[in-house]
Amino acid sequence: MKTLLPTSTAGSLPKPSWLAEPERLWSPWRLDGIELVAGKQDALRVALQEQRSAGLDIVSDGEQTRQHFVTTFIESLSGVDFEKRETVRIRNRYDASVPTVVGPVSRQKSVFVDDAKFMRQQTDQPIKWALPGPMTMVDTLYDDYYKNRNTLAWEFAKALNEEARELEAAGVDIIQFDEPAFNVFFEEVNEWGIACLERAIEGLKCETAVHICYGYGIKANTDWKKTLGTEWRQYEETFPSLQKSNIDIISLECHNGRVPFEVLELVRGKKVMVGAIDVATDTIETPEEVAATLRHALKYVDADKLYPCTNCGMAPLSRELARGKMRALSEGAEIVRKELTA
Ligand SMILES: [Zn+2]
Repeated sequence: MKTLLPTSTAGSLPKPSWLAEPERLWSPWRLDGIELVAGKQDALRVALQEQRSAGLDIVSDGEQTRQHFVTTFIESLSGVDFEKRETVRIRNRYDASVPTVVGPVSRQKSVFVDDAKFMRQQTDQPIKWALPGPMTMVDTLYDDYYKNRNTLAWEFAKALNEEARELEAAGVDIIQFDEPAFNVFFEEVNEWGIACLERAIEGLKCETAVHICYGYGIKANTDWKKTLGTEWRQYEETFPSLQKSNIDIISLECHNGRVPFEVLELVRGKKVMVGAIDVATDTIETPEEVAATLRHALKYVDADKLYPCTNCGMAPLSRELARGKMRALSEGAEIVRKELTA
C-alpha cells in the first residue's frame, strides 16, 4: 500500500432491507432465484459505493452475498449435512443449532470466486476478501465423523486454500481469515490453530490477514465481555506464535474495549489492522476519538504498518450507523496522516 494508514472495515456491512431483514444475523433472504442473484450483485455495488464515498482505501464486498460468515462457506463443502442439526456451544459462549459433519469434507466448487470477479470489475481499489478461519469453522459445526478438531480443521484448511488461490487469481489483494475462536481456545491455537491457518495460505502471493476479535455487538458477546475483567489480555496468549507465523497482517479489536495497547508490541513487525471503531454501540465515534486510538497504537506499531480498521464486522448495525462509522474512521485516519506527514 502506498497510502499511509490505509483504511478498511473488518468485513461485513449491513444488508439493504430489500435483500434481507436488517439488523439481524443469519437473516433470511427476501428474494430468490435469479432475483436473488441480481439482488446480491446490486447490494455489493451499493456496499462498494458506500465504502468509496466514506473514503475507505481498501474495500470489501461487505459480505452482501452471504448469509453468515461461516455457514455460507460450509454449504459448498461435501460431507456436511445441513438437515442433521445439533445444538452446540459456540466459542464456549452461546448455544446454536448447527449442521453435522457426516463424512469426508472437501470443496466441491468455488464459493465466492464469481462474486470476487464481479467486484474486481467494479473497482480499481485494493480488495480485501474475508473467509472463515479453520478453527472457527470447526467451532461452528457438530462433528460426527472425524471426531477430532485438529483433523477436521486441517481438512477445512485445504478447502480454504483452494478457494483462496482462486480468489487471488480473481484479483483479490488481501485474503483475510476470521478467527474469533483464536480468542477462546488458546492451547489449541498454539498446538494446531496457527498451523492450519498457514496451511490455508500455502502458496499465496497476495497479502494474508487474520482477524481476531471479541465478536459482533450481539448480546451473547457483550455479556461475555462483562466476565473478562478490567484488562483483556487474551491476545497475549496467541500473539507470540502469530508473530512468528507467515501471516502478513493481524486484525484486532482496540477501540473502547479493555485491550491493553501494549499487547500490540507482541506482533511488532507485522502489519496491524487496528480496530478504531466500536461495533457494539449505537454511538458514532468522532474523528478525534478515532485519531486518539490510532495515536495510541502508533506507540507499538510502525506508521507504515498501521491499517486503521473497525473492531469487527458491522452486519448487525443499521446502515446509517455503519455509514457514519466508516466516515469517522476515514476522517480520524486523515487527522493522524496529516500529523505524520507534517
Ligand atoms: Zn470480528
